[in-house]
Amino acid sequence: MSQTLQSVRGMNDILPDEAEFWELFEDTIRSWLKSYGYRPIRMPIVEPTPLFKRAIGEVTDIVEKEMYSFEDSLNGEQLTLRPEGTAGCVRAVIQHGLANQVPRRLYYIGQMFRHERPQKGRYRQFHQVGVESIGFAGPDIDAEMILMGARLWADLGLDGIELQINSLGQSEERAQHRAALIAYFEEHAEILDEDAKRRLYTNPLRILDTKNPALQDMCAAAPKLIDYLGEASLAHFEGVQRVLRDAGVPFVINPRLVRGLDYYNLTVFEWVTDKLGAQGTVCAGGRYDGLVEQLGGKSTPACGFAMGVERLIALIKESGGEPASPAPDVYVVHQGDDAARLAFRVAEGLRDQGINVLLHCGGGSFKSQMKKADGSGATFAVVIGDDEAATGEAQLKSLREEGVEQRKLKVDDLAEAIIGQLIDSDEEE
Ligand code: ATP
Ligand code: MG
Repeated sequence: MSQTLQSVRGMNDILPDEAEFWELFEDTIRSWLKSYGYRPIRMPIVEPTPLFKRAIGEVTDIVEKEMYSFEDSLNGEQLTLRPEGTAGCVRAVIQHGLANQVPRRLYYIGQMFRHERPQKGRYRQFHQVGVESIGFAGPDIDAEMILMGARLWADLGLDGIELQINSLGQSEERAQHRAALIAYFEEHAEILDEDAKRRLYTNPLRILDTKNPALQDMCAAAPKLIDYLGEASLAHFEGVQRVLRDAGVPFVINPRLVRGLDYYNLTVFEWVTDKLGAQGTVCAGGRYDGLVEQLGGKSTPACGFAMGVERLIALIKESGGEPASPAPDVYVVHQGDDAARLAFRVAEGLRDQGINVLLHCGGGSFKSQMKKADGSGATFAVVIGDDEAATGEAQLKSLREEGVEQRKLKVDDLAEAIIGQLIDSDEEE
């Protein structure tokens, strides 16, 4: 007996009801991004493995245990399914010389891959909207990127998403803090878990990002990076906060917010909801001034953020958001060879006029076709039988209004009649 094949664990099919919801979401996203001057960029889903190791950092959850990496057996290249978009975006900016034309505001929407334990809000294939601004030193752009989030939540009808911000300062400041942090963790060596022990000397800041409940209190009392920031870093952080205060966007400073990727400096932020259980971060980002140079480009400041599409869609649903009705305007019912040929002509002709048409395919009795027409939610049925085919006519039947007579019309007059009635019924609503 052959076994039924299933999708890969943690990688979901998005079925039509759901996919329509996603398209609406993406429409909102695109017009929101346009209103801030962002332009699309599309990168490959597969990149050379060293790109992610260099950009994200060797001692991070993503690079240590979450990447889908493989050797292309045809030529021996080491490749990885992208776990995030910033690395590839910066690679593309450098490769195509866009870094010479900075500043740039760029965005992308697409699949990311991480081998994590699948659970609500955490999948192995998921989607991000990534937003990157290259060539701006901030803090104005950092603040604008945060304000963008606030506007999007309003556009999507979402409330109660808390903004957390922090500053990671510059590498010299992090180095001083790091020494204090190692000393502190050494004092608490007996409670450190495996991950924490392994990272104690390679990347102690990462320990603060732990999800282990047993370490939370100890991490909360650890030396705070913000206490090691110099004047310039503090001024940058203050600059971001000033814009937020002026715009009336509330925030909390979370000194433990360090992000899971190594390329960040200065401003980092997360938007967090308590309505999705443990996976509450719907949007996260920050400044990454060192990354362009680190990937071989000329030193260029930059800042960006990524939103988890699955989590945002779950939140929209949680808040009572409804997908729009996907119903077509017209369902074309037909029987007989001549009728079928005319039906195709009619359907294409109506589409030429901007009408959404479902053409019945697969035959069947008039009765069963009419059932399908009803079930489709269409406003009208156009019915073509042998008689109509012989005279170049069709029956136009309203599927939503009771007691409206079915009318026989010349096929060339259908579009006008349909558009007229669609407009009438719009006005009545
Ligand atoms: P988390 O702390 O939840 O693991 P992260 O710090 O790994 O998140 P980022 O790499 O900053 O996340 O990704 C930005 C956003 O992408 C997250 O805030 C989240 O909304 C979404 N995201 C990250 N990983 C996943 C996943 N495995 N499944 C679904 N969404 C995800
Ligand atoms: Mg993660």
